[in-house]
Amino acid sequence: MSSECSSNCSSCGASCSQRDPKSMIKPQNAKSNIKKVIAVVSGKGGVGKSMVTALSAISSSRMGYNTAILDADITGPSIPHMFGLTDKAMGTEDGMIPIESANGIKNMSINLLLDNESDPVAWRGPILGSVVEQFWQEVVWGDVDFMFVDMPPGTGDVLLTTFQSLPVSGIIVVTSPQDLVSMIVSKAVKMAEQMDIPILGIIENMSYLECPDCGKKIELFGKSHLDEIAAKYGIEILGRIPILPDLAAMADNGDIENFNYDFLDPIMTVLKGIAD
Ligand code: ADP
Repeated sequence: MSSECSSNCSSCGASCSQRDPKSMIKPQNAKSNIKKVIAVVSGKGGVGKSMVTALSAISSSRMGYNTAILDADITGPSIPHMFGLTDKAMGTEDGMIPIESANGIKNMSINLLLDNESDPVAWRGPILGSVVEQFWQEVVWGDVDFMFVDMPPGTGDVLLTTFQSLPVSGIIVVTSPQDLVSMIVSKAVKMAEQMDIPILGIIENMSYLECPDCGKKIELFGKSHLDEIAAKYGIEILGRIPILPDLAAMADNGDIENFNYDFLDPIMTVLKGIAD
């Protein structure tokens, strides 16, 4: 790779591995057969990216697909808590064994390895990226139709490593109305183009709160710009999820799999469309 790489291959004559973004993809574990990897990204923390990852995985599993979640949000892992997972992942000769949720979703997360889930992980970017690669290569995932990767917020090291090292089939972007949606989407779109990965769609979370008495929709975080943004970048809107206190409570109680909803139907349609 040229030391002055501008990530613009069309204006560069050098021969390098960056030219083919897929050339750096790492092989999966010998005992894994993962068909599709979906990365769930957001511009900042707290918008509900992990929630959307969990709900997408639950939707996938309910449709009968073998489903897994790789928690790449190493410094802020919340997936095991949402699913009420307390067992620790064990190593075998073949690799680490993921922990299954009540309905059979396979999980790997740093919190399934730490003795105490509230222990902080103070590692720098390259190490965080290598943990994600290890979760990909050293976990015995078995047969998986859809693996959802809960990315850390933003577009830092871990995102880049994941996009380079894992064969990501598509990206789901999660935003909320108070987010700087335009900037995040523009970054995600550029990165996706560079890495040759399609954006499957965008989901707005915490879109509104429905008054339990009169049913009026209150836009707590201001007016949504989702329609304009989606049209500008030609991205499909996969849903608007309201603020649902019950959903927050169930996630908090490790009971997320029992939540019933219909606002993720568009995700199910997209998954069906790309399933092998
Ligand atoms: P992120 O992964 O973007 O940091 P999380 O998915 O961890 O965000 O969500 C942040 C908090 O907001 C969590 O406590 C979660 O339960 C809650 N939450 C997310 N989406 C909703 C929603 N639609 N309604 C109510 N609470 C939500």
